Amino acid sequence: MSPTDYYDLERDLSSEERLTRDTVRKFVQNEFLPVIREHFRAGTFPAALIPKLGELGLLGANLSGFGLPGINNVAYGLVMQELDRGDSGLRSFASVQGALVMYPILTFGSDAQKQRWLPPLAAGSAVGCFGLTEPDHGSDPEGMKTKAVRDGDTFILNGSKMWITNGSIADVALVWAKLDGVIRGFLIAKGTPGFSAHDIKSKLSMRASITSELVLEDVRVPGENLLPKAEGLKAPLQCLTQARFGIAWGAVGAAMACFEAALSYTCERKQFGRPIASFQLTQAKLADMLTEITKAQLLAFRLGRLKDAGVMRHTQVSLAKRNNVRMALEVARTARGMLGANGISDEYPVMRHLCNLETVETYEGTYEIHTLILGKDLTGLDAMT
Ligand SMILES: Cc1cc2nc3c(=O)[nH]c(=O)nc-3n(C[C@H](O)[C@H](O)[C@H](O)COP(=O)(O)OP(=O)(O)OC[C@H]3O[C@@H](n4cnc5c(N)ncnc54)[C@H](O)[C@@H]3O)c2cc1C
Repeated sequence: MSPTDYYDLERDLSSEERLTRDTVRKFVQNEFLPVIREHFRAGTFPAALIPKLGELGLLGANLSGFGLPGINNVAYGLVMQELDRGDSGLRSFASVQGALVMYPILTFGSDAQKQRWLPPLAAGSAVGCFGLTEPDHGSDPEGMKTKAVRDGDTFILNGSKMWITNGSIADVALVWAKLDGVIRGFLIAKGTPGFSAHDIKSKLSMRASITSELVLEDVRVPGENLLPKAEGLKAPLQCLTQARFGIAWGAVGAAMACFEAALSYTCERKQFGRPIASFQLTQAKLADMLTEITKAQLLAFRLGRLKDAGVMRHTQVSLAKRNNVRMALEVARTARGMLGANGISDEYPVMRHLCNLETVETYEGTYEIHTLILGKDLTGLDAMT
């Protein structure tokens, strides 16, 4: 039995789910892991692999219609797990493209918008980004300042968005802005006059992911670029539920990578004349890490089955995102220590995952925000307003 499938979840996976996971694992192993270290060092995303992600059907994989793969949500979760086992930046790319750009176009878009964007986004011949966060509004997006004003049959947008994954490489930006005081979604094509994206170079986390600031100065977009069926904050929040679902699985993948590195390192590394894995303190750490990973796997798996049954609640996604990311962060920190000085070197994947997980703890609703979402669900009292 695999040490990272201690409760034999394999038994509950269909042959399609296993095949999907194994295909992604092979891709990550053979094509992504050999290049990640250089990209992480350089602060670049391996963009050459984007069409390959499309070819494998990993972009918008759980969406249906318009030729999309429509795999079930457990298989989709396993895709996210395996991508994140490579690097959270790789999983972020696929999460944003699928859950935050393709999902809203499919759910809230017009037929023309779907025809225009879904096929190239699925193929990886076009890239999308999701602009919700602003410099002064992260956890409270309702307070956003970006505004759209109607001008005949066009809209004029002004404002800025911050920390936007894929911003500068996006062919289409989904920008959320207030129109007559109501949050609406606008599709802005690359090259639209007044629209620019500037990369944030200061990151010590998610280095192999592009993160940008979007600036909108009198950006004029045609009326047909408004997502017709998205009105109010609940629309972007509905997208975030999709992406958070993927994160709950992805965090498990990052934790598995760290655990595996710690297990093999401690079995080989000798101090005081014997493997450090033979010391009781090391074994206690391994036992605790495995227990937490196993609990998180069961949570993600159950969440996937609930989503497939159409009964998943967004608060259940909050619980899983909150728990699994914190779990992964703690596993990564423990693993880092178990590798001693080598733990801080990029010869091993652990420090890279640890740095990435600091972002994952913050984006898509911080640990605290998910705590408050659960608090409200339990008590009926909203601590955020
Ligand atoms: C690498 C990266 C990629 C990202 N990609 C995207 C993207 O593609 N699109 C996008 O729109 N955004 C993206 N984000 C932004 C991300 O979603 C925000 O950073 C996040 O929502 C938190 O907002 P903030 O950074 O402004 O922190 P703040 O909201 O200022 O929060 C700071 C701290 O205060 C705490 N806090 C805030 N409110 C409360 C409260 N009521 N009670 C208790 N504590 C509270 C928070 O939990 C946090 O610890 C990305 C961020 C990063 C780092």
